[in-house]
Amino acid sequence: MKITALNGFKDIVPGEVELWQRVETAARAIFSRFNFSEIRMPILEKTELFARSIGETTDIVEKEMYTFVDKQITMRPEATASLLRAYIQHGLHVQKPIQRLFTIGPMFRHERPQKGRLRQFHQMDVEVIGAQNPRVDAELMAMGALLLEELGVTVSLELNSLGCPACRPGFRETLLAFIEDRYEALCDDCKRRSNTNPLRVLDCKNPSCRAQVEEAPSIQEHLCGECSDHFAVVQEGLQQLGVNYTLNKFMVRGLDYYTRTTFEFITGDLGAQAAVGAGGRYDGLIEQLGGPKVPGIGFALGMERLVLLLQQQEEMESAQGEIDIFVAGLGEAASEFVFPLVHALRRKGLRAAMDHEGRSLKSQMKQANKAGAKRVLIIGDNELEQGQAVLRDMQTQEQEEIPIASGVDKLAGSLFAAC
Ligand code: ATP
Ligand code: MG
Repeated sequence: MKITALNGFKDIVPGEVELWQRVETAARAIFSRFNFSEIRMPILEKTELFARSIGETTDIVEKEMYTFVDKQITMRPEATASLLRAYIQHGLHVQKPIQRLFTIGPMFRHERPQKGRLRQFHQMDVEVIGAQNPRVDAELMAMGALLLEELGVTVSLELNSLGCPACRPGFRETLLAFIEDRYEALCDDCKRRSNTNPLRVLDCKNPSCRAQVEEAPSIQEHLCGECSDHFAVVQEGLQQLGVNYTLNKFMVRGLDYYTRTTFEFITGDLGAQAAVGAGGRYDGLIEQLGGPKVPGIGFALGMERLVLLLQQQEEMESAQGEIDIFVAGLGEAASEFVFPLVHALRRKGLRAAMDHEGRSLKSQMKQANKAGAKRVLIIGDNELEQGQAVLRDMQTQEQEEIPIASGVDKLAGSLFAAC
């Protein structure tokens, strides 16, 4: 009997590992440009760390953690709590009032494995600890956007503010009143959540819950003065840095520690696993974990999802690179002949291409090679006169003569048969 890896745990083998290296190298370069230092923490932590930071009633703590029940230790499900634990333990705030830290490594959550969702997955996590200025929020999102742009990944940035202990309880009441009237129509999870953490009802993926909360009040309109000012400067900062974003009143994030700014980088190319990265501000958390009273903000990018997007890009490029036939027309009359021929080939269903710039044979052959053409049909004025063209197989380099005098349609038919 063969022994295989656990479900949801994956090897990263040569052929794929190069993409991981590319993602990590690009990230390290960007993080360093933005003046971040690396920190590495252990994978096992005391269970209490996550219960106290992420929140007792979150999906992660309630059902996704790998916990050794007899030892009260847990394999970290995310990086922020461990990183802050290390920050506090080593008194890093004494060395430098504002710490800009990043860490890269595996995280563990007992979820249903699917494309872009594993049980051991990897995050690149960045945190700025000690900075209250909303411009830092904008700067951090701009850094994430720049990294994704450099990787060639297209995402949209969704933004919300979750307020603070001064304004969130008020919003919670407003929302509860709204939910109360629709309680019966909600899914069982949301019924339960409306007692423990009603904001989570806003981001339920269930279509009927979504329809119910469509008209829900927006937290953005219930922020206290300070949170509202903070949120305005975050948005101004994004505009100054040329980062596009959309406001999303439904985004509440599945971790309890967030205050004010929350955001997600969303892709349309990975189905249900749409979030490539996510994060936000957590101004009370460090103190809550026994550290100094300093604010913080951070985000994590999911490496599996980034690698999947790069793989899809590569597949698209190689699919695009393969054309069935390149028709090289040399000289005026030949070009005239080739123009409708290429169209006829495309109508037959072939991927066909030609040159429109009157280039030499040599440069057209180069073009055909670059496009990954399987065959090239060469037609010059001489060939036209003689009623014969040369069809070259680019792989075997074999050539055959093709009669062309019978007209474009017939020729397209016999080329289609030859391809
Ligand atoms: P999701 O809504 O997809 O479950 P999340 O909100 O639980 O994501 P976070 O805890 O914010 O995710 O983690 C940040 C990023 O880590 C996510 O945006 C995603 O790219 C990645 N990620 C989270 N869970 C997994 C997983 N199980 N497998 C692969 N990547 C993951
Ligand atoms: Mg999740």
